[in-house]
Amino acid sequence: MIKQFVPSEFCIECKGCCRFKEADSVWSPCLLDEEIQGLLDRSDIPVASISINRRITPVASHDGAYFVCPYLGAQDNNCKIYQIRPFECQLYPFLINLRKGKVLLTVDLNCPYVHENINSIQAKDYIAYLTDYLNTPKQLNILKSNPQIIQAYEEVREVAEINLKRPESI
Ligand code: SF4
Ligand code: SF4
Repeated sequence: MIKQFVPSEFCIECKGCCRFKEADSVWSPCLLDEEIQGLLDRSDIPVASISINRRITPVASHDGAYFVCPYLGAQDNNCKIYQIRPFECQLYPFLINLRKGKVLLTVDLNCPYVHENINSIQAKDYIAYLTDYLNTPKQLNILKSNPQIIQAYEEVREVAEINLKRPESI
């Protein structure tokens, strides 16, 4: 599990994550290959639909105004699979990004906690931790074998480089 930058009590009140404007949103969680079977094998959690591009498919909200991850508890705003939530969910508001041929660690400034705290010492320390973690041989191998995770989000800030060449398949 990746250590978290945003305190969970802040996220519970926020409602910024796990909801999407479209059913095929590029922001819906993209899965590692090894996470897909794990989710499908669990009988204790609802079966979510997984798209051809290996994303959890959001479902329409009760009022039809937006789309929501099927693993989000509507009443308590908690992730029902928090202990086994996907790598991308653990990583957010940080993202793995492909930009100008480089694989980068980026951050989404639309997250209100990041927006307020990105220039803090805690953010600097956390980025150092996360960069070191992602650059370990084990994590680099995971990223290399899951090029679907390396995406081209535009409105995000670059914070560090990942020691990975652009995978040939993207
Ligand atoms: S947008 Fe940021 S603060 Fe809000 S739920 Fe997501 S990670 Fe937490
Ligand atoms: S798996 Fe959990 S953390 Fe990830 S989008 Fe769904 S509800 Fe949110």
